[in-house]
Amino acid sequence: SIVVTGATGQLGRLIIESLLRRGVSADQIVAVGRDIDRLADLAQRGVVTQRADYDDAESLQAAFAGAEKLMFVSGSEVGRRVVQHGNVVTAANEAGVGLIVYTSIAKADTSSLVLAAEHKATEQLILDSGLPYAFLRNSWYLENYTAQLPTYLQHGVAGAAGDGRVSAATRADYAEAAAAVLTTEGHTNRVLELGGNPFTLTELAAEISRQTGTAVSYIDLPVDKYTELLVAAGAPEGYAAVLADGDRGLAQGELEVGDDLAKLLGRAPTTLAEAIRAAL
Ligand code: NDP
Repeated sequence: SIVVTGATGQLGRLIIESLLRRGVSADQIVAVGRDIDRLADLAQRGVVTQRADYDDAESLQAAFAGAEKLMFVSGSEVGRRVVQHGNVVTAANEAGVGLIVYTSIAKADTSSLVLAAEHKATEQLILDSGLPYAFLRNSWYLENYTAQLPTYLQHGVAGAAGDGRVSAATRADYAEAAAAVLTTEGHTNRVLELGGNPFTLTELAAEISRQTGTAVSYIDLPVDKYTELLVAAGAPEGYAAVLADGDRGLAQGELEVGDDLAKLLGRAPTTLAEAIRAAL
């Protein structure tokens, strides 16, 4: 079976849909989440659902028993993930999975992003386990931007990314890539740097202007000023700092990657223009 963690989340759910579309039979998919009530619709379609928490080693052991492959979607509790992910890797090892596919971050081994540290540590735990692996080093989601269209239209695009380019791609495309890695041969012990066509935040603003007819410009700020702006707009301080730090890395090219995603998909990933059109 293929066990998918984070199944209650946005990416995990899309990975399961991609697996089903690719012909994996529902009873061969185990959807793992903390709250399996939220997986009831999948259970109705024949997907096995299993409760497990990254903080609870025993629950992970039970959920992974008999798994051939593990789709390990990284957790969302920043700062706690090395311990949590360590529990996942230990349980995967005990289950003796034949492949562990982990959603990492672009250039995890060299990235200076604050967010990259936990991914780098997790990759190392997986390498140390000796399990066959594939690292999906995902760049940003296009949805990080399209979800903010109303704000952009009102206030413009603010950031601290300078002229840096971000290879953002849709969650659906990352999910399809994950499903391809889980269901086709030739990905064992590979590191895939995944992302879409790179663009600058100036180009993001220009594309919004072009499609809406509303003039939207990109306002580039120093990292500390951008952090302050995010806090003033209601973001918790730690979260604002992490977001602004992401732009600092973006400015340095740390979220710009090559065409591994297009190669895996066998087609061009959804573009920024297409994602904006779909969101509008
Ligand atoms: P979501 O926040 O939608 O999903 C996160 C998933 O992780 C949820 O299913 C959540 O479960 C699960 N999870 C978190 N903590 C635990 C835990 N302690 N035990 C078990 N499960 C846990 O994120 P996405 O699906 O959009 O993205 C997937 C991952 O990618 C994120 O978790 C994060 O690591 C990373 N990410 C990447 C971004 C990018 O731009 N590339 C942006 C944001 C995140 P529950 O539903 O119970 O909370």
